[in-house]
Amino acid sequence: METQSPNNIRKIIHVDMDCFYAAVEIRDNPTLKGKPVAIGGPPDSRSVLCTANYEARKYGVRAAISSAMAVKLCPELILIRPNFYKYKEVSEQIHKVFRQFTDLIEPLSLDEAYLDVTQNRDFDGLATPIAKEIKRLITKETGLTASAGVAPNKFLAKVASDWNKPNGIFVVPPEKIEEFVLQLPLQKIPGVGKVTLEKLHQHHLKTCADVLNIGHQYMSDHFGKMGRHIHIRSQGIDDRPVTIEYPRKSLSIENTFSRDISDDKELLDEVDELIEDWFSRLIRYKERKNPSSHPYKFFIKIKTFDFQTHTVEQILPEDIIHEIWNKENLSNLAKEFFHQLFRQSRERNNAPLRLIGLGCRFNVKETRKEKNRQLNFLEKFEESKV
Ligand SMILES: [Mg+2]
Repeated sequence: METQSPNNIRKIIHVDMDCFYAAVEIRDNPTLKGKPVAIGGPPDSRSVLCTANYEARKYGVRAAISSAMAVKLCPELILIRPNFYKYKEVSEQIHKVFRQFTDLIEPLSLDEAYLDVTQNRDFDGLATPIAKEIKRLITKETGLTASAGVAPNKFLAKVASDWNKPNGIFVVPPEKIEEFVLQLPLQKIPGVGKVTLEKLHQHHLKTCADVLNIGHQYMSDHFGKMGRHIHIRSQGIDDRPVTIEYPRKSLSIENTFSRDISDDKELLDEVDELIEDWFSRLIRYKERKNPSSHPYKFFIKIKTFDFQTHTVEQILPEDIIHEIWNKENLSNLAKEFFHQLFRQSRERNNAPLRLIGLGCRFNVKETRKEKNRQLNFLEKFEESKV
C-alpha cells in the first residue's frame, strides 16, 4: 500500500441514523416503543418497505421486502405510511450538527453522510471524540440515535459505521486497516451485489484476505473491472474525496458568435474551439470535483439567426463511455453531431448560425438511485391508495 506521512492521512466520519424513518415515527408516537414497526404502504398494495425497526427485524422484516410479505412474517407488525417531509426536516437538523464541525459534507441520503474532518482542530484534531460529540448532539437535537464510523477513507468509514449498530461507533485507525480489512466478508464492499458475491463464492473467495491471496491478475482475469475494484478495496484503499455538492447532472457550454456565421470552414473552427474549451472543463470537473462521474449522454445544440434552436442528444455507447476521456474520440463524436445539424439546417433554409453549444449528462448514480427508490415507493404507495 502507498505509504503516507501522518500529515496526509485523512479523517473521515460516516454517520448513519439508526432505522431512520421508523425511529422518527416511534419518537413521535411513544406507544409504538418496543413493538415491531415498519414504514411502508398497506399489505394489500404492491408497496415495499423503506425501513423496519429492530423489533421487526427479529422476524426477518427488513427494508425492500413487500408489505404483504412483511405482515406474513410478522402478523402484529405496525405499518406506517412514510412522511418524507418530516424526515427531510430531521435531516436538516442533523446537517446543522455536521456543519458545526466541517463544511466538507457529502450526503448519501436523508440520514447518511460522509464528513471530512481532517482540518478540524477540536479535541486536538482527533476524529473519534468529534464523532462522539456529533452523535451526542444529534441525539440531543432530534431525540434519535446515530451510528458513526471513523476511518482514513470513505469505504472503511462506511463499513465501520455499520459495525456496532445501533447507537454505535467504530474506529479504524490507519495502523489497524490491514487487520480490519483482511477478515472483512466481501459483501461488505459497496458494489458487490448478490450476483457478484455468488460468483466470488464459486471461486472460494469469501474475505478480503482471500482476494489478496489470489492476487490482482486472477481478479482481473475472472471478474474484470469489478475484480480490480474488489482487489483495491481489499487492501483498504479508497482515494475518493468527500465531495460537497451533489454530483452535477450535466456540464455544457455554448458560444454566441459576435456575428452570424454561415461559412462551413469558419463554423468548424468555432466547433474546434468549443470542444477544446468544453473538454478542459470536463477534465477539471472530473479531477477536482467528482472523479467517479461518467458522462452517459452527449448533446449538441445550434441556434439559427432567427432564434430557432435545434438539438441532437444521444446516449453514449458503453465503449465510448469508458473511452470518453480520450479527447480525440470525443471531438470526433461532437463533430459528427455538428455536421448532422449543420446539414439539416442547410437543407431547411441555409440559415446562418448565431450560436453553437455542447455538453454531456452524467450518470448521477447514487443520487438517482436514492431518488428512484423514494419515487418508486411513493408511486407504489399512491397506487395502493386507489
Ligand atoms: Mg440509516
